[in-house]
Order: sequence, then C-alpha cells, then structure tokens
Amino acid sequence: MTKLPSTSWSSADAADLYNLPRWGDPHYRVSDAGDVEVNLGSEGNASWHSMAEMMSELDERGIHPPLMLRFGNILEHRLRLINESFQKAILEAGYQGVFKGVFPIKVNQQQQVIEQICDFGKKYHHGLEAGSKPELIAALSYMQDPEALVICNGYKDQEFIDLALYGVQMGLQVILVVETLSEVPLILQRAEALGVKPRLGVRMKLSTPGSGKWVNSGGDNSVFGLNAEQVIQFVDLLKEKNSLDLLELLHYHLGSQIPNIRTIRSGVSEATRVYVDLTREGAPLGYLDVGGGLAVDYDGSQSNTLSSRNYATEEYCADVVESVMEICDKSGVAHPTLVTESGRATVAQYGVLIFNILDVSGAPTTSELPVLAENAPNELKYLSNIPTLVNSSNLQECLNDAVYYRDEIRSRFTLGLVSLRERAVAERCFAVILRQIQNASKEMEWPPDSLEELSAMRPDIYYGNFSLFQSLPDNWAINQLFPIMPIHRLNEKPDREGIFADITCDCDGKIDIFIDDTGSKNSLPLHGLKEGEPYNIGVFLVGAYQETLGDLHNLFGDTNVVSVEVDEEGQRVYGHEVQGDTVADVLSYVEYDPKEMTVNFRALAERAVRCGKISASQRKTIMQAFTEGMQGYTYFENA
Ligand code: PLP
Repeated sequence: MTKLPSTSWSSADAADLYNLPRWGDPHYRVSDAGDVEVNLGSEGNASWHSMAEMMSELDERGIHPPLMLRFGNILEHRLRLINESFQKAILEAGYQGVFKGVFPIKVNQQQQVIEQICDFGKKYHHGLEAGSKPELIAALSYMQDPEALVICNGYKDQEFIDLALYGVQMGLQVILVVETLSEVPLILQRAEALGVKPRLGVRMKLSTPGSGKWVNSGGDNSVFGLNAEQVIQFVDLLKEKNSLDLLELLHYHLGSQIPNIRTIRSGVSEATRVYVDLTREGAPLGYLDVGGGLAVDYDGSQSNTLSSRNYATEEYCADVVESVMEICDKSGVAHPTLVTESGRATVAQYGVLIFNILDVSGAPTTSELPVLAENAPNELKYLSNIPTLVNSSNLQECLNDAVYYRDEIRSRFTLGLVSLRERAVAERCFAVILRQIQNASKEMEWPPDSLEELSAMRPDIYYGNFSLFQSLPDNWAINQLFPIMPIHRLNEKPDREGIFADITCDCDGKIDIFIDDTGSKNSLPLHGLKEGEPYNIGVFLVGAYQETLGDLHNLFGDTNVVSVEVDEEGQRVYGHEVQGDTVADVLSYVEYDPKEMTVNFRALAERAVRCGKISASQRKTIMQAFTEGMQGYTYFENA
C-alpha cells in the first residue's frame, strides 16, 4: 500500500512521488519553483536548468513538441563513469590488463550520438561495435582513434569483410568476430586476396542463461555464436590453416538489461574458463569481450525487477575484473584486456522525450449532481442520493452501493427499461461519487487497498501529442517501463490520476503502466489542465533503442530533436537541431511521390472550379493549405 502524500505540498513531495531522485540522480532534480531541472554542467561543476524554460525558449524559436531533448554532457558523464569505474576496479584489484569499451551502434545509431561517443570517448580509447554493413561504414567514417577497437559482430558478406580488412590496413583496430563457422573460409580467403592479416574474434554461446526480459539471448537457446563443440571445430580449422595466431578476442553477450549481478558473474566466470582453455589450445587471444547487459535502473528500485538492477556500475566493473582475475590467476594465464559493449547504460539517460497534452477526458471535476426528472427510475434516485451519505467511515460501503446501482441501470438499459438519457445521468452520478470517494480516501493516512485501486479503476485519459509506436516502441512491444512525469507545476499537488493516449487512434497507443517503488502501477498522478497554459510531460531515460526502433504507424514520423548544452558563461545553447519528418517525408518513405500527389490534387481542385463547386480564389487557398500540409510536422500543431 502506497502512503499517499500529505495535504501540504512541496516540490520535494513531487520528487518523491515520481521517484525522481532514485532514477534521475545526478542528472535530474526538481527545483523549488516546481520544474524538473537537468544538470548541464561538467564534472564537479553543476549547472542546473529548468526544462520548462527550455521548452518555452524553443517554442519562441518555432520548435514545438513532441521533441527529443539530448544532453551531450550526460553522455560524456556516462562514458566517464563506465571507463573510470573500470580503471578504479583494475587499480584496486591489481589487475594487469586494461579496459577498452566499445559502444554498440545499434543502441542509438544517430549520427550525433556516434560523433559524440567518438569525441568524448577519445581519452579512454572508447571504440564502436558494428553489427551490420551500414553500422561498419558509420564506424569507419567516425572512428579516427587508432587505439580504439572497432568490433564487427553479425553476419558478414564479402563486402562487410573487405571493409573491415581495409580498416585494418588503414591502421584501425578492427576485429572480425566469427558468429558462424561458415564465415571463416570467406574471411581467410578475402584476407589473402587483399593481402591483409585479419584480426579475429569468436562469439561463444555460453551455457549460462541470461536474466530479465532478454533471458533467451544467453544460454543454450541463444541463436548467436558458437557452442563449445563448434568453438573447438573453429580452433581446429584455424590450426589446420596455420592461422590460430589470428584469434585475438573471445566475445559473448548474455542479453540486454541484466537485472541480477549473479547472472553477470556467472557469465564472466564461464567465459573466462573458455578464454583460459583457448589459450591452452594455443590461441594468443588478449581480449575478453563480455558484451552488453549492464542495466539501467528505470524504476529506481535498485532491485532485480525487469526495469531495474540490483547493482551499481562500480559493482559491475569490480565483479567483472575480480571474476576474470581470479580464474586467470588460478590458471596462470595473463590478464586480458577487458572489453564491454555497454549500450543502454551509456546512452539511456541522455535523451528525454517531451510531449504536450492536448486534452483530458475523465471524471467531472465538480461535485455537482445532475437534476433528476420526477419519474426517474428508483435505481437512479438511490444512486444520486449516495453523495449525501458518504463519510470517512463508510467509503467502501458507498462504493459497493454505487457500483451495484450503476450496474443495475446498465442492465435495465439493455432490456429497454431505462432510456439513454437516464443512463447518461446515472454514469455522471457514478463519476461524481467515485471522485468524492477518491478524494475522501486520499485524506486517510492508510487507505484500504480496494479504495486505493479506485484511482486506477477510472483514470483520466490525457491525450498526448506523440506516437507511442514512433517514440516509445519498447513500451508498446515489451512493456518496458520509463520514468514519466510532468516537467513543471510540481509545486502544485496533483489532484488527478491519469493514463496517456497518443494521437495514433490505435487502441494500443497508450501508456498505462508506470514505475512505482513497489513495481509498477496503472495510473500516474497528474494535474488538471489550465486554460491557455501548456502541460508538458517528460519521458526520461529514452536514449537507448527507442529512436530507431520506432515505426511510422499512422504515418507519424520522427520528432524534432534538439541538443542542449551550456557555454562558458553557463548560458544555454541550443544546437544540433534536427527538424522532425514532414508529411512529404513520411509519405515518400511509403512510396508516394509528393510531387505527383500535388499534381493530382491540383487537377481535382481545377475540376472543382470548372464544375462551379469552388471559386478560383478558393482554389488558391485550398492549394496553399495542401502545400503547407505537405511541408508541415506530422504531429498536432497549434494554428
Ligand atoms: N552487444 C551485442 C552483441 C548486442 O546484441 C547488444 C544488444 O542487445 C549489446 C551489445 C548492447 O547491450 P546493452 O544495451 O544491454 O548494453
């Protein structure tokens, strides 16, 4: 049972209510003025900025929600955290190898992200992981650091292999990770043809099962990598070709968002045993790549729930270092360079989606009951009398009665004994009673569970200007939780409970599952709308996977993107502005030709003029609206 906030209210209560300190620290906080603030400062030099102020400054510039805000300094912070935590763990343990991370491009392929990773990561020689030809081409175009790794996973055709080999030839540290035995002859053949010594890795399918949502990415049922028998066949094949000296890296990936540190430890231990035995087989190795999996604490519970993790980044690094060291030391094998492919934990925090609320539908805000006709059915009379009976000791009884009479009226309507108008009056009475009971139960320090569930039973629907399918595909597809909260008005106590509906008109296009310190809940405390004032909602920690997994459902396209940083004087600088898709853009993605469409539409308008349906000047206005529509944002725009 959640303890409801007391009647006096401050921004600190709001921070608690949305669990912000637990998922947002040290990047986000709530100001005394009731705004969510983001820290745009550098390490040890905080610079807090109101996100609501950013939204109004961007609005003045003509950049409207839905909008993706990116904060480069947070990305820099995360890269530093991962690299320096490994360095610290290595130093403290007396580990003899070093750490070299790579960022898997699939987690956020946007050009700005890759450019920033290469830039911020330079001092740590942080590299990139590519799982396809386009990703490899992106990696080769942005990775200028000859000491950083470029790890090539995924299925490889000749073009892919050749590009990787050219990378080696030009002095980059490109390693081709073998995923299937059938790739080996082609790699060796192309290397010989191009006269380049390839650098090889092998992906091993561990028996350790993953955990969390991506449990099947690891263990016997995983689809990628070689099992123990195939690894030995691979070694024998290389030996046969006198090429075992090419094998430098052992890789595995147990799955993303691993919530339990025990799974991480088991995977590392098993992989290190494989590493040791491969060196005994005569492979030089030198790199152990433990893949991704470092989880993000989306719900702030610091537990092993699917949306959290029961370990900190520092603990993850220390456990990887210690597990590898222990087994290598016992076996007398030199400590390898440790590689991780952490994607989610690198970029999730740095992206925030902001959408505005267009409308709310839900329970009435007034307690006024409709006036009944004299001949109203008895059930309706009883129902409308309930509000006069409600007091703090009979809330449950009043709720039971209200549900009973409402249902009676619904049944009698189906039988033709109650009119639609009478039923409408009954529904209104019921909504007023629910609101009255909800409000009364909020004043109780420990309301009974059944009353607490009332809010979730009838949440208001907040219509948000966004597409779930485009901007939050993991929420739709796999119920991934993200922290969601208003970015302003947090010094006002929220007096409503709501869910969000997007503007795709799809019954799946809604968010009705939210983080909670005890797991998840089905509605979110929100404020009523104020005439003429925006109400902006932030969806946090969306920098990983969401931007490119999204699709064009209902032809809603990419949102606007703006990155925000501060200059030396601490002034906000809006940079890297990418305009969201226009209507013409999304239509052309699905094979329409906007020019041809304009010609067709113009012909329709011309015919209408000829038939006298519209005047020539009306045709001009209509054509203008069509052209502006084509060039406009796919989302709701205020006129
Ligand atoms: N490496 C490989 C091979 C992957 O398939 C993935 C994604 O699942 C990652 C790394 C990134 O994982 P994460 O985002 O959990 O760090």
